[in-house]
Amino acid sequence: SIPLGFFGGIGAASKAGILIKGSNYLEALNDVKYVVFDKTGTLTKGAFKVTDIRPTLEGMNKEQLLEIAAYAEFHSTHPIAESIRTAYGRELDEGRIESYNEISGHGIQVQVDGKAVLAGNTKLMDKESIVFKQPELAGTTVHISVDGRYAGYITISDEVKEDAAEAIRTLKQMGKKTVMLTGDSKAVGEAVGRSLGLDEVHAELLPQHKVEEIEKLDSKKSAKEKIVFVGDGINDTPVLARADVGVAMGGLGSDAAIEAADVVIMTDEPSKIGTAIHIAKRTRSIVW
Ligand code: ADP
Ligand code: MG
Repeated sequence: SIPLGFFGGIGAASKAGILIKGSNYLEALNDVKYVVFDKTGTLTKGAFKVTDIRPTLEGMNKEQLLEIAAYAEFHSTHPIAESIRTAYGRELDEGRIESYNEISGHGIQVQVDGKAVLAGNTKLMDKESIVFKQPELAGTTVHISVDGRYAGYITISDEVKEDAAEAIRTLKQMGKKTVMLTGDSKAVGEAVGRSLGLDEVHAELLPQHKVEEIEKLDSKKSAKEKIVFVGDGINDTPVLARADVGVAMGGLGSDAAIEAADVVIMTDEPSKIGTAIHIAKRTRSIVW
C-alpha cells in the first residue's frame, strides 16, 4: 500500500502547479544527482523574434527571402517556424506548397512553386552539400537554399525565462549537477549556458544524441542516484522516457510530451524543479 504522506506530497505539488503521476516519482526526486534541461522552450521562452534577414542571391531582396522561408515553415509547429511566419506577416497560399518534409533537428525540405527549398541549420546545409555564409549576429540561424543554391539566412533570437537563472542557482545550492542539451548551435548553447551558470552544455545534438548523453550521465552515477530530464517535448519524447524522472512543460509542451512525462509543470517555470525536489524531501520526512 502507498503511505498516506505521499498523497499529501502529490497534493502539495499539485497546488504549486506540479502534476506528479505517481508516488514512485516523488520518491525518486529525493535522490536526484543530475538535472538535465532542454534549451528551447524549457530554459528559454521559445518565443523567437526575427532580428536579421540576409539574402545572398543576386536579385533577391529581404522580403523575398522571408517569403520563401515562411512558405518552407508553413506546416511546422516549431517555435522557429512561428517566428518566421509572424515576421512575414502576410497570408500564405497553401496551394503553392507541392511537397513537405520536416527533418527532426535539421529543418525543412519543401517544394514551393516548382522550386526545391531547404530551410534549416548548418547540419541540413552540410547534408545537402550547400556552402553557407557565417552569420554576423549571435542567435539561432536558419539557412535557406533554393534549387541547390545558397540563398541567405535569417537570424532569430530567443530570451531566457525570467526564473531560469534562479532555478539553476537553487539546484546547484542543493548539490545537483545542472546540464543543458540542445540541438541549437555551440555558439548559442554556450552563451545561454554561461549566462545561466550551468555546469555542462552539450550542443548540436539530434534527438537520439540527447538519449546518448543521458546514457553517459547514467554511467557516471550510482544506481540509487537519479537523472531528471526537463523538456518542452518538441522532439524530446525519447529523452523524457529514458530519464528516471521525465518532466514536461505543460503550457508550451506538446501533447505527446505531456503523455510521455512523469511530471508536468503547468506554469512552464524551470524553478518548479527545485520546488518539486523540496516537496519530495518534506514528504519523505513525514512518511518515514
Ligand atoms: P532544442 O534542442 O534547442 O529544443 P530542436 O531539437 O527543437 O532544438 O531543434 C534543433 C535545431 O534544428 C534548431 O536549433 C534549428 O537549427 C533546427 N530546426 C529544427 N526545426 C526547425 C524548423 N522548423 N526550421 C528551421 N530550423 C529548424
Ligand atoms: Mg526542443
